[in-house]
Amino acid sequence: MTAQVHKVYLSLGSNQGNRQQNLNRAITLIADRIGPITDQSDLFVTEPVGFKSTHLFNNMAIGLETTFTAFEVLKITQQIEKELGRKRKSVNGIYHDRLIDIDILLYDNETIETPALTIPHPRMKERRFVLEPLTQIAPELIIPNETKTIAELLVDIC
Ligand code: ADP
Ligand code: MG
Repeated sequence: MTAQVHKVYLSLGSNQGNRQQNLNRAITLIADRIGPITDQSDLFVTEPVGFKSTHLFNNMAIGLETTFTAFEVLKITQQIEKELGRKRKSVNGIYHDRLIDIDILLYDNETIETPALTIPHPRMKERRFVLEPLTQIAPELIIPNETKTIAELLVDIC
C-alpha cells in the first residue's frame, strides 16, 4: 500500500539576520524532511504587520507534497524554526522580529480547529503578505468554507 500524498501550502517569513539565507535554509530543510516542493512564489519584501519594527520582512509562499499528517508537519516546521535560531513565540497576538516563521496555510481541503493548529490559517484572508505570494502559485484555489479564489480574496483586501 502506498501512503497517501497530501498537498500543503506554507507561508514563510523572516525579518531578522540574513533574511534570504534564512528562507533558503528553511526551504532546503522543508524539502528534506517534509516532502518535495512543487510550487515556489517570488520573494516579497513587506512591512511588518501587527507590530512596530524597522526591519522589513522577506515573505514567500510554497506548495509541497507530503505523506505526513498536518500535526506532524507542524511539529517538523517548529523544529526547523528552532534549528534556524527562532527563540520567541508570539503569544496572544503579540508579535516580534523573527529569524524565521513557518505557518501552515492549507492542508488539502481539511479544516482543523485546535489551539495548537488551526487550518486554514485564521489570518491568511486578511494578510496581503500571505495572499500576494500565494496568488502567484495557487490563484484559482478555493479554501475550505470560502467561495472566492485566492486571487479574488487578494483583490478584496487591496
Ligand atoms: P505567528 O505565526 O502568529 O507569529 P507563532 O509562529 O509564534 O505565531 O505561532 C504561535 C502558535 O500558533 C504556535 O505555537 C502554533 O502551535 C500555533 N498555530 C496554530 N495554527 C497554526 C498554523 N496553521 N501554522 C502554524 N502555527 C499555528
Ligand atoms: Mg508562525
